[in-house]
Amino acid sequence: MIPASIMSAQLEGWQAEWRAALTDPAELLEALNLGTLVARVIRPTRDAFPLRVPRPFVARMRRGDPHDPLLRQVLPLDDELMPRPGFVDDAVGDLAARNAPGVIRKYQGRALLIATGTCAVNCRYCFRRHFPYAEETASLGRWRKAVDWIRANPDVSEVILSGGDPLSLVTTRLAELTGELAAVPHVRRLRIHTRLPIVLPSRVDEPLVRWLGGLPWPVVIVLHANHANEFDAAVDTALARLRLAGATLLNQSVLLAGVNDDVDALAALSERMFAAEVLPYYVHVLDPVRGAAHFEVPDDEARRLIDTLRARLPGYLVPRLVREVPGANAKTPL
Ligand SMILES: *Cc1c(COP(=O)(O)O)cnc(C)c1O
Ligand code: SF4
Repeated sequence: MIPASIMSAQLEGWQAEWRAALTDPAELLEALNLGTLVARVIRPTRDAFPLRVPRPFVARMRRGDPHDPLLRQVLPLDDELMPRPGFVDDAVGDLAARNAPGVIRKYQGRALLIATGTCAVNCRYCFRRHFPYAEETASLGRWRKAVDWIRANPDVSEVILSGGDPLSLVTTRLAELTGELAAVPHVRRLRIHTRLPIVLPSRVDEPLVRWLGGLPWPVVIVLHANHANEFDAAVDTALARLRLAGATLLNQSVLLAGVNDDVDALAALSERMFAAEVLPYYVHVLDPVRGAAHFEVPDDEARRLIDTLRARLPGYLVPRLVREVPGANAKTPL
């Protein structure tokens, strides 16, 4: 299903690719030569957070490997049904931190704007998988209230576009939003948290680059990649375009059992990122969200991994290991 917000009479290239995303687990497993895994897939009726994965991301998965690190991030398996105490729906206290429709302010000077609830990919470990987007998104004409709130709070100097994935909005809507923000004098930086340049690199098209290049503030783009295999030539091109538009590129990952919980995988990710001129920013421990307990890496193991990584790589390639603690005034280092 393509959200109305990205619908237009003539689909741009990236929108056609978005629409062609795989949503049927059987089709995905068939394409990967893993038909026997179908028995372990959760039935859609029991899962409000269905499979969704763009084909360019599928193309980077290894055929015939049930443990492929990209596949594991998106395939809804029966592991998710195992209840675990402490793994809850609103794992990071977002509901308590609402300020206006679509605005979450937890930290000094920064306000996070949920520009849309939509993503091109559904990541099984996502801390927002149970978040009531429909009510909270600032999109669809509700931006004015969000912008009003920012205007009324002069300590907010950085606006963070988040979601969902803000780049799932068409560029004209992004331009409307930043046009309104441009009239707020105390906004001095724009940050965009997005996974789209990784999972659907065609999103970084000419209109997007023109929009970025024309913004009146320095722009920081925080990407989200968890494994070196998520990069390929198309991703490199997309990232080069973002840089050419003047954006500073950082990456945050989530430490995920069976995906990147070994030092070789983490080192390869940092090295691959650097080759694409992206610097590591954070590596988050998993938020305790219901359905994701099988991705958990114990704290001691997480610390040991990052210490080992620190001994191996230059400091600027070692991400900060942090946890999201509800009520804390910053991401909390482990
Ligand atoms: C993570 C987050 C930020 C950004 O924190 P930084 O440490 O500046 O990256 C801002 N607002 C909210 C609500 C967040 O969850
Ligand atoms: S792209 Fe980000 S917000 Fe969207 S499902 Fe994945 S982790 Fe969650």
